Amino acid sequence: MRIVLLGAPGSGKGTQSQRLVERVGIPQISTGDLLRAAVAGGTELGRLAKEAMDSGRLVDDSLVLGMIRERLREPDARRGFILDGFPRNLAQAHALDHLLESLRQPLDAVVQLEVDYGELVRRISGRRTCADCGRVFNLLTSPPGGASVRCSVSQQAHRLVQRPDDNEATVAERLRVYDEKTRPLIDFYRARGLLRVINAEGDLDAVTRRLAQALDVPALRAAPKAKRPAARKSPVKKRAARAKVTRKGSGGSSARKPRATPARPARKSRRAPAKRSRAKRR
Ligand code: ADP
Repeated sequence: MRIVLLGAPGSGKGTQSQRLVERVGIPQISTGDLLRAAVAGGTELGRLAKEAMDSGRLVDDSLVLGMIRERLREPDARRGFILDGFPRNLAQAHALDHLLESLRQPLDAVVQLEVDYGELVRRISGRRTCADCGRVFNLLTSPPGGASVRCSVSQQAHRLVQRPDDNEATVAERLRVYDEKTRPLIDFYRARGLLRVINAEGDLDAVTRRLAQALDVPALRAAPKAKRPAARKSPVKKRAARAKVTRKGSGGSSARKPRATPARPARKSRRAPAKRSRAKRR
């Protein structure tokens, strides 16, 4: 299965991708994660990408495409993949078409995760990531609990950190960039007959069920497999973990800067203009 998850920042692409990885066994390819690993690793790519990321703009297409080309050629991607955060503009979508054509691996589906603007802002403010295993939580909607209390890497409680670009000013810019550059992809993929739209608000499991239905994947409706052996950790996470160990000096990685910032309470705020309602976007 080769799919793209489309959706604004905070729409749950990462969380739902992780569920697909656990239950369907195909890798998640997140350009955001790959770029953050490059920043944390202090590589040339990371250096070039960091400024755009920190200000909420898109990183240069040429950098992102080079990274994706390399990643899609790795052996685990032959079984299929979930693209999360890529493509993000029309140029990237066209480039992906050509790349997948040359690999003879066309996309099966593109799922658009629909979430109201005010809810996106609320979710992003509560988002935290485990610095060790990379798992995404939300202090407001899905805090670590039950079987997810312990980190699968450290075997301790998760070390929750906030992404440096999850701050108010950058979030507003990311949402603006999404509207301008990424939203046109909805029509692009609709015209190709690949688009499926799901309501991504409400209970996490309910969203997963809607995703399962949209993709026609019964395994996704079932409970997650008991525990993943460490050997199945994705190359992206391995790279990020390696980068964390080997990196020297400061680079602005969220993984290096645990913050105890409390989640802001939900606000139907100034930043949630009614004109951006879900209904309008369809
Ligand atoms: P978001 O939650 O905003 O979707 P991501 O983790 O996907 O965050 O991406 C974080 C940042 O990395 C983006 O704001 C952007 O600067 C950069 N980025 C990620 N994917 C791409 C891409 N496909 N093209 C250009 N820049 C990207």
